[in-house]
Amino acid sequence: MSLIESIMNILADERDRKSLGKITKVTLQNGRLAGVVTDSILFAWEALTPGTQFEGCDIVVNDTPLVLRCFSCQKEFEAQSAMLAACPACGQEIGHAVVSGREFLIENIEVEDSDEESDEGSNKDAARQE
Ligand SMILES: [Zn+2]
Repeated sequence: MSLIESIMNILADERDRKSLGKITKVTLQNGRLAGVVTDSILFAWEALTPGTQFEGCDIVVNDTPLVLRCFSCQKEFEAQSAMLAACPACGQEIGHAVVSGREFLIENIEVEDSDEESDEGSNKDAARQE
């Protein structure tokens, strides 16, 4: 199963569980080390959503930076790669811990306003009686 298909499954479950309306926008977090190419997510979403309940749903992918904690001095810093990233404080290049940047997750979803105001019908009836 492709990554996008699993995302769609998670979204569909979430939507059903909370009885949400149509999902109009999805925001994902794509960590630099997650190994997922943002463009390929967008491409797959465009290709796979037509004809599903997610047709027309916007997708936003936020690339989250890689943050390392220095092995020597414990300073946290952003890096392009987990390999040979020189600590800006002490210059240490190896052995750093990854603080964040491995995650690939659904950050947020937006849903269409559902028909929550179902008691509006009774107001209409009341108005009609005039
Ligand atoms: Zn350091």
